[in-house]
Amino acid sequence: MSGRRATSSTVHRRMLVLIVAAVLLSPASTRLSSSGEQDGQARTVPDLARAFEHTFSQILTPEEYELFTSRTPEEIKEIDGELYRKINQNVGRWTDDWILWAARNLDTVPEARLERAMATASRIDRLTRDYFEARGWSYRSLEVVFLPQRLFHDTHNRRAKIQGVFIPFYPEVFFSTVDPAAPLELILVHENIHYNKRGPSLGLPLNEGITETSARHIVRLHELLPGKVLRNFQAYPRERELVETIVQGITSRTGVDHDAALDLLLEAYLTGEQSGMERVFGTDSWTHVIEASRSEKKWHRLRRCVEEALE
Ligand SMILES: [Zn+2]
Repeated sequence: MSGRRATSSTVHRRMLVLIVAAVLLSPASTRLSSSGEQDGQARTVPDLARAFEHTFSQILTPEEYELFTSRTPEEIKEIDGELYRKINQNVGRWTDDWILWAARNLDTVPEARLERAMATASRIDRLTRDYFEARGWSYRSLEVVFLPQRLFHDTHNRRAKIQGVFIPFYPEVFFSTVDPAAPLELILVHENIHYNKRGPSLGLPLNEGITETSARHIVRLHELLPGKVLRNFQAYPRERELVETIVQGITSRTGVDHDAALDLLLEAYLTGEQSGMERVFGTDSWTHVIEASRSEKKWHRLRRCVEEALE
């Protein structure tokens, strides 16, 4: 985990690159100027991500742009690997350069605060790696770049409190506020788990429920946070409740304990390999649960499918 992009030494070395990027990003200026930026440069990470869309409308062919706007990054990777690489490389370069520009022109994290955050990130990385490797799961380190909170203000949605983002088409780096309202340790374990998912999405409720429940389990196991802090911070309560119901179902059917049951579910999420869960609940029942999770905003159906699987 390097996260060193925002430090001053690299800023100086990469200034030349930055000037090139400012030109490349300039097509976004006409649209961005209406949301309050004076010189066409995005002021926040959400604005930066939006600016890419406009820039790509200028540099991709109409067919490529159609794919870019209508498919997910994962789908584009499947359909047109070359196009994915092109978008990924551009987004990565523009983002890195904007981070350097923002450090010089907008705001920086005080050096001591940055060092503390990076020490936390590398400790969390090591513990998550240990957890994965002890279970024979492959693990990749996620790079974390810490930025000042004000760079996360979303000018299009002022009430949104963004703690960190993955920029679409640039999944290699997690951009985190250095002063999150949520406990940083929990956020980082959570994002490390997401980053190591190799299988297809299980739908938002299962994705977030499994990830947050497992993140809290790892945090508790290593006593990374006081119990009170963990209890007072409630993320995805509905999704976690659903996951606990599934975990209890695994426990009562197989006789394994709670933590082993949660690992079984986490492994299915990470690898995309559902045969273990299908053996526990039956192929049809488990397939219905995943389908209900993927069809968003249908909680009743999802709860019913889980209940049926447990019968
Ligand atoms: Zn998440």
